[in-house]
Amino acid sequence: MKPAAIFTVDVEDWYHAAVMNRNLAGSPDHVPEKRLFCNLQYLADWLDHRNATATFFCLANWPAEINQLLRKLSDKGNEIASHGVSHKSLHHLNGKQILAELRESKEKLEQVVGKQIRGFRAPNFSITDEAIDLLPEAGYEYDSSVFNVKWHPSYGRLKQYPIQAKPYAFENGLKEMPLSTFGPDFFSIPVAGGAYFRHVPFGLYKRMAYSLAQEGYFHFYIHPWELDLKHPYPPKIGRIDKLRHFRNLHKVPERLDILAEQLQFESIEAYLSRRKH
Ligand SMILES: [Zn+2]
Repeated sequence: MKPAAIFTVDVEDWYHAAVMNRNLAGSPDHVPEKRLFCNLQYLADWLDHRNATATFFCLANWPAEINQLLRKLSDKGNEIASHGVSHKSLHHLNGKQILAELRESKEKLEQVVGKQIRGFRAPNFSITDEAIDLLPEAGYEYDSSVFNVKWHPSYGRLKQYPIQAKPYAFENGLKEMPLSTFGPDFFSIPVAGGAYFRHVPFGLYKRMAYSLAQEGYFHFYIHPWELDLKHPYPPKIGRIDKLRHFRNLHKVPERLDILAEQLQFESIEAYLSRRKH
C-alpha cells in the first residue's frame, strides 16, 4: 500500500505570487490574464483521476465560475479552507484587519460550499503569534502556515509559540499542520512543494518526500499556476525572478505524476479524521 501524504493547494492566480506581483507593479497599465479557472479545473481532474483528495486554501471574492468549481470540488470530498482576502502578508496587517480577513473569508467560503471552513493558511506563510491568538476567536480549528525555513526572509516567525515539523497543537487548542521540511531543525531542507519542488534535484526530492510519508507525515502544496504550460509573465520581469519562477516549471506535471504513483494524497480533513478513530 502507498503511504498517505497531505496535498494542499493555494487557490490564487499567477499574478498573486509575490514575485509576479512585484514585477507587475512596474507596469500599472498591464491587465494580467486570468488563468485560474482552467488551471483549477486541470487540478480537479488530476485529483479525480488518482482517487485523491486535497485541501484548497482559497482567497475569497471569486467570480461565479470559480465559486461553482470550488463547490464542485467540495461536493466531491475535497476540503475548502481559507487563504484570507487580500493576500497581503500578515505582518502588513494589524490585529483588527487580520480578524476581519479571517472572518470575511470564512463566511464567504462557507456560503460558497455550504460547509464549515475549519482551516487557514497565511499568505506567503507569514504567520504571526497574533494570528495564532485570533484564529480560534474567528472560529478556525487549525492553521497550516508554519514552514520552518529559518533563512527565508519573509516567512512567518512564531516567537511565543513553538515551531515543529509534524502536526501539533498550541496551548489555545488550535491545531497546526506544518509544511514539510527534511532533516535537523537548523539545517532543514524545505520539501513541501512550491519553488523547492522545481529547484531541488528531483531524485533527491522524491526520496525525502517518500521517507517522510513513510514516517507518517509528508505535507505537499502547490499553486494551480504551477501546472500551467501557457503561463504568462509580466512585461518587465527581471532575469533572476524569471529564473526563480519559471525554471523547471514545465517539469511539474510529470513530477507530480511520479509523486502520485508513490504516495496516496489526501486532504487535511481526511488526515485528521483518520486519526480521530
Ligand atoms: Zn498564496
